[in-house]
Amino acid sequence: MVLLGPPGVGKGTQGRRLAEEQRWALISTGEMLREAVRRQTPLGLEARRQMDAGLLVGDEVMIGLVRERIAEPDTRPGFVLDGFPRTVPQADALDRMLKEDGRALDAVLSLAASEEELVRRLSARRECPVCKRAYNLESAPPRSDGRCDDHPGTELTQRADDRPETVRMRFAVYREQTAPLIDYYRRSSRLREVQGLGTKDEVYRALLDALGRAAGAR
Ligand code: AMP
Repeated sequence: MVLLGPPGVGKGTQGRRLAEEQRWALISTGEMLREAVRRQTPLGLEARRQMDAGLLVGDEVMIGLVRERIAEPDTRPGFVLDGFPRTVPQADALDRMLKEDGRALDAVLSLAASEEELVRRLSARRECPVCKRAYNLESAPPRSDGRCDDHPGTELTQRADDRPETVRMRFAVYREQTAPLIDYYRRSSRLREVQGLGTKDEVYRALLDALGRAAGAR
């Protein structure tokens, strides 16, 4: 399944829980790219400039990355895509890749929230560099100031692209290049819309409900 939605809406947090509880593989393309940047691989060196500017990495690179990842055996029971597809060519490529493999998307869950609320959330977002657990300094702060609950020696960090100028660019890119996917999947009746506001548990329950509906409709 695919998790779709604007920056900061909770795709990462919800996707991680869904994948863990359902025992599906989690494929977060943003996380894969950030790891490549940290390790300074050729992909990381190439992607870094676009990421830091809040722009998208090229379709061909992203499609190649996902093609390789979904061929791995841990995706067999199912997988959650967080952050892919982000453009219509990526969505077309995903359908083709899955079809070649005799698979298909079960559902596209679209998480929605207002841009104003999300900009506020993103500026307070922090993560643990070790376990990638997400925190929010306002709504979900760590127990001790600025440090991960599970790794007390580790200071939480802010993603380079969560700075205000970059956040604005990421929203513009989302509106132009990714939001059209909502109609794209609606037209093929694969879209389930979920309200992204509320507590993490509330949103998670709404996601499960939407997945139930998706299963029932198949
Ligand atoms: P995310 O963690 O999903 O917000 O992604 C962080 C950044 O990685 C994005 O702003 C893009 O620069 C890049 N990125 C992640 N996924 C994709 C994708 N499917 N296509 C293009 N760029 C992507």
